[in-house]
Amino acid sequence: MTQKSQENNNQGLVEKPPVVVVLGHVDHGKTSLLDYIRKTKIAAKESGGITQHIGAYQIEWQDKKITFIDTPGHEAFSSMRSRGIQAADIALLIVAADDGIKPQTVEAINYIKKSGIAPIVVINKIDLPTSQPEKIKQELLEQGIAVENYGGDIPIVQTSAKTGEGINDLLEIILLVAEMQELKFNSQARAKGVIIEASLDKKRGIVATLLIQDGRLTPGEIISSSLSYGKIKRIIDFAEQNLNEASAGSAVEVMGFNNVPMAGDSWSVVDNLKKAEEKIIKPSSQISSFNQKPSPEKSEKIVLEVILKSDFLGTLEAVKNILNELKEEKVELKILSSGVGEINENDVKLAAIKQTKILGFRVSPNLAAQRASERYKIDFIITETIYELTQKVRELLSSLVGPEEIKKLSGELKALAVFKSTKNGQIIGGRVISGKVIRGNKAEILRNEEYIGEGKIVELQHNKKPVSEVVNGQECGILYQGEGKIEIGDIIKSYQISIK
Ligand code: GDP
Repeated sequence: MTQKSQENNNQGLVEKPPVVVVLGHVDHGKTSLLDYIRKTKIAAKESGGITQHIGAYQIEWQDKKITFIDTPGHEAFSSMRSRGIQAADIALLIVAADDGIKPQTVEAINYIKKSGIAPIVVINKIDLPTSQPEKIKQELLEQGIAVENYGGDIPIVQTSAKTGEGINDLLEIILLVAEMQELKFNSQARAKGVIIEASLDKKRGIVATLLIQDGRLTPGEIISSSLSYGKIKRIIDFAEQNLNEASAGSAVEVMGFNNVPMAGDSWSVVDNLKKAEEKIIKPSSQISSFNQKPSPEKSEKIVLEVILKSDFLGTLEAVKNILNELKEEKVELKILSSGVGEINENDVKLAAIKQTKILGFRVSPNLAAQRASERYKIDFIITETIYELTQKVRELLSSLVGPEEIKKLSGELKALAVFKSTKNGQIIGGRVISGKVIRGNKAEILRNEEYIGEGKIVELQHNKKPVSEVVNGQECGILYQGEGKIEIGDIIKSYQISIK
């Protein structure tokens, strides 16, 4: 690469503060550690302003910024984790010194390996007399996490969230790891990132916490996600300060979305509202294609009732909006009940009484619900993404209205003689006036271009011999079964039907 092109490539690239997430087993001290850092490392004037919890905060340490995502146990973050989304640059793997590796520690290790996120091992509760850090290092090695001086180079630090011991060392190591990663962002790029949290606030309307992963974000810009979009009215930082600009490596609250966006979803700045609207997943337009021409006999509306459970309020609102848009001419989708949290026994009982399905969005049934579902024979439809959800619901709806029939005109016959009408049908003589008429085809009778009825060409004869088709210009006899009574001069349209 030439000197010149290297300069061009580096144009606009500036240092990005590391975004840190805290992982580990319950009760190992994730919240305490984050609380300790927040209380001791944020300037008093700023921390005084923290009245609203936005799911992330930023500190300055040795003149460098570090952003902590402080929603470790948050469902939205776990769902991001389970989908392998790398929202942060560095993961702190917290292990309590008196407890060791536990199931959620293993889960966190798997995520770290899968996502490629840079880990730092934090052995916490080092103040406890029962702490055994050496044993934990050994256990970590067995899980494929080789720390410094233990056969590997993964940084490790021992802390106490109670006394503060080791916390400064931890911050130093975070800056060191960040430096090694050479974290940069493009200051000239349009901002993009991940939605950490979103909700409908009674006073403030729709509020979303965004992690900015690249570029700069300013009020007035148009922001888009897969479920909602809007013009940014305000950008607020964790200390409730209004910002004129926010850049990558920070998390901010924004207002201006037209709907509650979904946590875990990605977002980006786009040119204008029209472009933002185009990017929205529109289930209603997708669904209308599965049965464009419903058959006339099925004119009454079918109602599909569902019970909906979702991982938290923000996603529940988003999923409800999506489902409410899944309206189709023939099928109405009705949400019987909805709620946040795992699918429980009551949900199954309600489903059994109402004979409905249970939709779970990023939640699973608990054990009691599973047992009850076997007893009552209730199905769960569990999905992880909006795309999967709309697909599954579309399949459900289409199974209710039946498959789509594709009709292709193969030819037309003009009735020249009506021979016989029996309980088996009508025997007609006629001439093919276009295309060909095929045995087994669907037939529609038209009289002076008016629809009379439809049925089937059951038998076909040419020169008194059974044939499978008769072509344009030839005369033939047919046995027609179906609606209407064919008269001389009627046109019988012959259609081939296939199922899509
Ligand atoms: P989390 O579930 O991982 O967020 O854990 P918490 O931060 O809620 O901590 C669980 C319990 O351990 C609480 O009672 C904390 O007070 C305690 N704890 C957390 N860190 C320490 C520590 O470093 N030393 C001691 N002695 N207790 C701690």
